[in-house]
Amino acid sequence: MNYVGIDLGGTRLRVAIAGAGGPIQHVVRHPTEADRGPEHVINRIVKTIEEALRHERIKPAEVASMAIGMPGPANGKTGVVLSPPNLPGWRDVPIASILTERTAIPTNLENDANLAAFGEARAGAGKGARNLAYVTVSTGIGAGLVLDGRLYSGASGVAGEVGHIVIEPGGPLCNCGNRGCLEAIASGTAIARAAREALETRARTQLRRHRESDGPTAAEVVRAARGGDALSRRLLDRAGTALGIGMGTLVNLLNPELLILGGSVMKAGGLINRPMQTSLKVSSWESARRGLRIVAPRLGQNAGLVGAVEWARLQATSAARVQATR
Ligand SMILES: [Zn+2]
Repeated sequence: MNYVGIDLGGTRLRVAIAGAGGPIQHVVRHPTEADRGPEHVINRIVKTIEEALRHERIKPAEVASMAIGMPGPANGKTGVVLSPPNLPGWRDVPIASILTERTAIPTNLENDANLAAFGEARAGAGKGARNLAYVTVSTGIGAGLVLDGRLYSGASGVAGEVGHIVIEPGGPLCNCGNRGCLEAIASGTAIARAAREALETRARTQLRRHRESDGPTAAEVVRAARGGDALSRRLLDRAGTALGIGMGTLVNLLNPELLILGGSVMKAGGLINRPMQTSLKVSSWESARRGLRIVAPRLGQNAGLVGAVEWARLQATSAARVQATR
């Protein structure tokens, strides 16, 4: 039997095929064309699945199960995607049943951050760990949780929103509408915004060179910090400290054995890691932290796609188990 994994992002659509026990055999990539609305995107997904199956000379009847990962809140239990911010016009779309009907392959839906965590847990940096969190710190901050060896998505699929733990009550405004969320302080977007605000003061900094454009990006702040710019170092220090408080909260709550920390902001290395480690220690219990390993992800951009394939595999085997016990 074969398995299909789909990773649907705001700009990119990827479909992967894997055989019974093996890794991904073939991947087809296309632009999502999200601006043309849900119907258009769904047609593209179906066509891309057909293209991938044709390439591998596999008939739909030879595919046991399919899983699709989507950005934003998605209810895996009902297969309904709620309202992904990067996919205009999508609201309460029952994507799992639509794809099941259109392709005749049983389809499951999951949030993409959850699937990325599941992929790392099954085939990446988390192999062998039973309790882990995979946290991505980039434009936003999100996490997927694998607890007792199982993906944990909460009552309605929204678990793991560590980016919206409030670190500074009344602090910077977050995309979610609250103030002082971790994401509003430590994400790449937040670091860039803090840099822009600092430039409005009279502070001395190398970042002034970027004044004429939209202001410095987080990567430029990191570059300036490496070059010894004190203000840039302070900005990253604040972000790293906030991240450590968020991770400390996560550690106290879940007592994971492994924390996989990825995303563009983590490329800052020690500039983020050092203040993070310090504040993680201050904000978590020694007993919750004992034995905790913090590592980088291994699957990179493929984590979500690998996770989707592995999720499809798991759904097929658990469906078979239910049928056998009937
Ligand atoms: Zn928030």
